[in-house]
Amino acid sequence: MIMIDYHVHTYLCRHAEGDPQDYVNAAVEKGLKEIGIADHFPLETMGITPKTQVTMNEDELETYFQMIRKASQTGGISVKTGIELDYAPGKTEELAPVLEGYPFDYIIGSVHFMDDWDFTHPFFAGEFEERSIEEVYERYFALVDEACRSGVIDIIGHIDVVKKFNYRPEERFLKPLYEEVAQVLKDTGVCLEVNTSGLDAPVKEFYPDRALLSRCIRKGVKIVLGSDAHSPTQVGRYFPLARDMLREMGVNETVVFCKREGSLRSLE
Ligand code: ZN
Ligand code: FE
Ligand code: FE
Ligand code: ZN
Repeated sequence: MIMIDYHVHTYLCRHAEGDPQDYVNAAVEKGLKEIGIADHFPLETMGITPKTQVTMNEDELETYFQMIRKASQTGGISVKTGIELDYAPGKTEELAPVLEGYPFDYIIGSVHFMDDWDFTHPFFAGEFEERSIEEVYERYFALVDEACRSGVIDIIGHIDVVKKFNYRPEERFLKPLYEEVAQVLKDTGVCLEVNTSGLDAPVKEFYPDRALLSRCIRKGVKIVLGSDAHSPTQVGRYFPLARDMLREMGVNETVVFCKREGSLRSLE
C-alpha cells in the first residue's frame, strides 16, 4: 500500500498514545511512503481552556517539533510536520502571524467546538438530545465555512464530523449546506480531508459522506487522506477501501504538502 497519511496524533494531546517515532514505524510497516504528524495545536495559545484537556500545552510545542525532526531521520519514508488546529471564530485568525513562525508543512483546520461544547467528545454527546439537530448542523457548517475562509488552514479536517454520534437531519436539509461548503472549498483552495476514522465511530462511515465527497470532487476540490490515528495501530486504517472509493469516483491524485505549499501526487 503506497499511500500517505496526514493525520496522526501523539501522546502529547492526553487522549492518544505513542510518539512520532511509533507512528512513523507503524507507517513504514504498512508500506506508506509518507506520513504527516498532525497533533492538536495547544488551545492554551488561543486562550481556550476546555473542560477536559485535549491538546498539548504551549510549552510542549518545541518537544513536538523535536520528536518529529528525530523521527524524520527514519529511512524509507518521508515525514511531514503538520498540526490540527481548532477553529474558534476570531481567535484562529489572530493566530496567523504566530503560526507563520512554526515549521509546519501543512495545517489541518478542524471544528471540534460549538461555543464551549466539545461535541465530538463522547462525554458530551448527550447534548445532541437537548438541541435542535438542524440548528446544530447549520451552526457547525457555518463554522466550517468560516474556518476555510480564515486563510489560516490548508486542509479541512473531518468535514462532517458533526455526524459522529449518528444524529443527522434529513437529506434535503443537508443539501444546501453541502453545496455551500463545497463551493467555499473550491473558492478558497482549501483541500478536503478524507478521514477514515469515522468508520470506527458510531456513525460507521468516512468523513465526508459520499454525497458531500462527490459534490466536492465535481467542483475539483483536491483531496488528502488521514486516518486520525490516536494509536500507532490505527495508522493508515481503511486506506485501501478509501483509495478504491476515490478511484471509483474519478480521483487519481492526492495533495502532498511541503512548507505550506501543496502539489499533486498520484494516488497509488
Ligand atoms: Zn484527538
Ligand atoms: Fe479532530
Ligand atoms: Fe485528529
Ligand atoms: Zn481530528
